[in-house]
Amino acid sequence: MPELPEVETVRRTLNELIAGKQIERVTVTLPRIIQKPQEPEIFAAALAGHTIQSVERRGKFLRIILDGLVLVSHLRMEGRYGVYKQDEAVELHTHVRFHFVDGTELRYKDVRQFGTMHLFAPGEDLTLPPLNKLGIEPLDEAFTLQAFKKEVAHRTTKIKPLLLNQEYIVGLGNIYVDEALFSAGIHPERTANTLKAADWSRLYDAIRATLSRAVDAGGSSIKSYVNGQGEMGMFQHELLIYGREKELCRSCGGPITKTVVGGRGTHICLRCQPLPKLRTKAKQVRQSAK
Ligand SMILES: [Zn+2]
Repeated sequence: MPELPEVETVRRTLNELIAGKQIERVTVTLPRIIQKPQEPEIFAAALAGHTIQSVERRGKFLRIILDGLVLVSHLRMEGRYGVYKQDEAVELHTHVRFHFVDGTELRYKDVRQFGTMHLFAPGEDLTLPPLNKLGIEPLDEAFTLQAFKKEVAHRTTKIKPLLLNQEYIVGLGNIYVDEALFSAGIHPERTANTLKAADWSRLYDAIRATLSRAVDAGGSSIKSYVNGQGEMGMFQHELLIYGREKELCRSCGGPITKTVVGGRGTHICLRCQPLPKLRTKAKQVRQSAK
């Protein structure tokens, strides 16, 4: 699933390609992609005649801003956009086509068919599902170390599922959580409220640095991810831990292991990310002896 850097790359590319284009009509061939309104005919009729102003992002969602409408789109597993000339052959698994008055069209292709589109009045989209419960944007100025700790430091869940939960911090998925936890030297199964001030500080820096570097590189092309223009992101070559099971840790030379945390495949270097169980036990014994 594309995460913040991949969606941001698609956003930037799409913004260049479709901002200013006026929609003539919309064709929907897989109704279930359209979640709001439920009738694809109403969705298509509502968009006809409107002009795209910009493409924005909230978490892993794209927000296509039109004059008087907002189209919220989630790519889920394998959704992707491309801009074509209207006479170009339509590829298999193309489910939604936005025909522009200039003779080009935006096509949404989704092999797995899990992607979603919601259409809203301006301002309404941020107050209703699926965007209304989203947490803080990790690359915004509002995401300070204090804001980060206030949101999650008191929680009694494991740190990896906590970071994956979009209600606290948005945009992080399996790849960038593994990368950030490795960079911060934190075991993904540590309980949030056992992390020390120094751990939070390292994790905060790691999240910001990992996401910023990945955005600069155009995201990661794991499997078949391709951005809006069909170019490949380059960050997969810079991944330190994700997808590197059976390889050696670039930091300590130790083995990278793959395990399951919170139901998700997880990459760990146990030397760089130790579970401080023994120390905690010893401390408990010392405390109970007092
Ligand atoms: Zn290591």
